Amino acid sequence: MTEDRFKVVIVGSGPAGLTAAIYAARADLKPLVLEGDQPGGQLTITTDVENYPGFAEGIMGPELMNEFREQARRFGADIRQESVTSVDFSGPPHRVITTKGTYVGDTVIIASGARALLLGLESESRLMGHGVSACATCDGFFFRGKKIAVVGGGDSAVEEATFLTKFADRVTIIHRRDTLRASKIMQKRAMENPKIDFLWNSVVIEVLGDPASGLRALRIKNTKDHSEREVPFEGLFLAIGHLPNTEFVKGKLDMDAKGYVRTHDGTRTSVEGVFACGDVQDSVYRQAITAAGSGCMAAIDAERFLESGHSV
Ligand code: NAP
Repeated sequence: MTEDRFKVVIVGSGPAGLTAAIYAARADLKPLVLEGDQPGGQLTITTDVENYPGFAEGIMGPELMNEFREQARRFGADIRQESVTSVDFSGPPHRVITTKGTYVGDTVIIASGARALLLGLESESRLMGHGVSACATCDGFFFRGKKIAVVGGGDSAVEEATFLTKFADRVTIIHRRDTLRASKIMQKRAMENPKIDFLWNSVVIEVLGDPASGLRALRIKNTKDHSEREVPFEGLFLAIGHLPNTEFVKGKLDMDAKGYVRTHDGTRTSVEGVFACGDVQDSVYRQAITAAGSGCMAAIDAERFLESGHSV
């Protein structure tokens, strides 16, 4: 099997990976981008993006990512739809192994992102972007004057519910137990908010509606007495946690307890010549613009690393 060699191998194709690709390509480093299972990343499962600077009228998530991809291609990025299964970071150069082959990179930029945990319902994925969302900051604005539900009992759920009261008429936190996991101060704030109420000991078992007309109700099951009922809602936000996509670098890079890659001095990881950017190393901000910003940093860090004498 041949082993193609690149100065920069980028794993991931969301805002972080493709921004890294644009910068690396413009620096004439001819980067390879391995797109992964979800080319374009999490923005491809959202609809309107209204907070990405430069688009006064907003832009659809998939369209925005298409622009990123075309911009990277225009400067010579080699973009391939392959998923990385493992890595060999004994270099530099390092090896990145995909389902189709092995690539050698003088530098590797990990931009594999994170994924929101979902309930796993068929109806939830059918209505994703049409009433169902996993990002209040991205989509809250579209629920002005509506009645919405937030699933979860942690800080994210309480924070997102509180944020969503800026737009929605009523926000119901649906939690599977009768006590929240969220910090006391955030609980207090939510409980004192007149727009927030709670459905305790409850789980969503079906999302009702269709992509054309949107979400109309949730079928909810009581975890104590197992009774089921249909409650009208116009939106559903999932806030049951995120998982960084780091399975393929487990044990190869320093990570925090939740599996996010640790970075230092910009985008450097614990391995020389390996950089990380975007949601894979950020459990706090998780925005397209912050991911893009860190992608730019990773490309600059990789370029400087190569200039310091690690080139092919
Ligand atoms: P989390 O703390 O893991 O909470 C997830 C919540 O979702 C839990 O209440 C859990 O229920 C529930 N849940 C998980 N799977 C579920 C399922 N399949 N069905 C229904 N409910 C489910 O996650 P997070 O709230 O995203 O917070 C992650 C970390 O970020 C935490 O350390 C948090 O403190 C931090 N954070 C901090 C802030 C802040 O300080 N401003 C804001 C956001 C997040 P159980 O309680 O029953 O397990």
